[in-house]
This record gives sequence, C-alpha cells and structure tokens, in this order.
Amino acid sequence: MSGDTTRRDMLGQVVRGTVLAGMGGAALFLTKKADGQMVWQVNASKCINSRLDAADAEVCTLCTTECVIALSAVRAVNEYSKCGRCSICPAYFDVTSAVGDDGLPSQKLCPRDAIERKPIGKIDPEDPANNFYEYIIDEVKCDGCGRCVLKCKEPLGLGSIVLKVRYNKCVDCNRCAISIACPKDAISQVIKTEGLESSLASHTD
Ligand code: SF4
Ligand code: SF4
Ligand code: SF4
Repeated sequence: MSGDTTRRDMLGQVVRGTVLAGMGGAALFLTKKADGQMVWQVNASKCINSRLDAADAEVCTLCTTECVIALSAVRAVNEYSKCGRCSICPAYFDVTSAVGDDGLPSQKLCPRDAIERKPIGKIDPEDPANNFYEYIIDEVKCDGCGRCVLKCKEPLGLGSIVLKVRYNKCVDCNRCAISIACPKDAISQVIKTEGLESSLASHTD
C-alpha cells in the first residue's frame, strides 16, 4: 500500500467520523425536541389578566372568545403553593358587592360559578379572619374568562391564579387563534417539559 493511499484512507476515516458524529448530534437534538414537544402556552408576565401589576386593568376575555375549542382550551389554574387561602378571596367574591349578615360580600365574582370555597380545618365563627379556605377551580365549568385571574392580586390576593393552556384540551393548532388576537403577544410556543406537565396535572379535576 502506497503512502498516498494510506493518507487518503486515514483522511476518509476522519471525514466519515466527523459526519457520523454530526449526524449523532443532530439525532440527539431531534430526540430532545421530540421529547420536549412544542406547545402553545400563556406567558403570565405578559398576559393582561395574569401579570402581577394588572389588578386595575380591564379584563381581557380573548382567550375565551378566540379559541377554536368549546369554552376554550385555556382555563384558570390556582397554583396552591402560592395561594394565601384567604377568608375573603377577591377572586371568589365580588368584593364590591354589599356585605351580608355573615360579614362576607354577598356576590361571587365568577360568572360560571366555577370556583368552590372549601374550609380548611375547624371554622371559628368568632374569629373569621383566622379561618382558611381552599379555592378549587372546576375546569369543566371554567371558560378561561380571566376575571378571577385579574383580581387575585396584591393587596387582597397573592397572584396564585393564572391562565394556562390545558394540553388535554388544546388541539395544538398550527397557528393558535388566540395568539393571533392577543394584544400583548402573550401566547407563544414553548417546549413541553415533564415538570410543566406534572405541575399542571396537579390542578386538573
Ligand atoms: S388574549 Fe392574551 S392578554 Fe388576553 S387573556 Fe389571553 S393571553 Fe391574556
Ligand atoms: S376564569 Fe372565569 S370562568 Fe374560570 S374560574 Fe375564573 S372567573 Fe370563573
Ligand atoms: S392552539 Fe388552538 S385549541 Fe389550543 S389554545 Fe390555541 S386556538 Fe385554542
């Protein structure tokens, strides 16, 4: 075998190795992308209803009216770890309504009665401010109108309720109809991760 032939063989092996390594990297990248499927999601820091400085804004109902799914694939989600379990929740009660004999606002905020108020532990009638409640959103009733989301803000609320695209409802349109209409560019495609999915799954009914 001549010196030239040997060099050509070695060069060929190096090139083949480089190409194969490149293909391996691309395959790995594609595998990662396939694992982390792209999904439409609400960016809470941009959404009019979800952003923390928006308590006085006008509610935006485009997530309800624009989605191609009945009621909408966007629903309100209470992130329980952030919820203050307040006695008078501004997302549950219409805090501008008249106060009843029980000392509570007489009307609820949700137009679809989709939020359940459940006492935690023993209720002390003498000390209402020291009673705590769990606020559970019924996703079958919720249409993602965002009213409760907008009102769960400081100083009365803690911003624990946000709007989320629910993956078990979304049909993953090529171009999300809400994203086209959203005035804040708050709906975009993100990589679906296991953490995101499980954190959402903990709020399903
Ligand atoms: S359309 Fe945009 S701003 Fe309006 S509720 Fe949906 S995500 Fe928020
Ligand atoms: S988003 Fe609208 S329908 Fe859903 S729980 Fe909140 S107020 Fe009710
Ligand atoms: S992708 Fe389609 S189904 Fe999903 S939230 Fe957007 S409009 Fe609704």
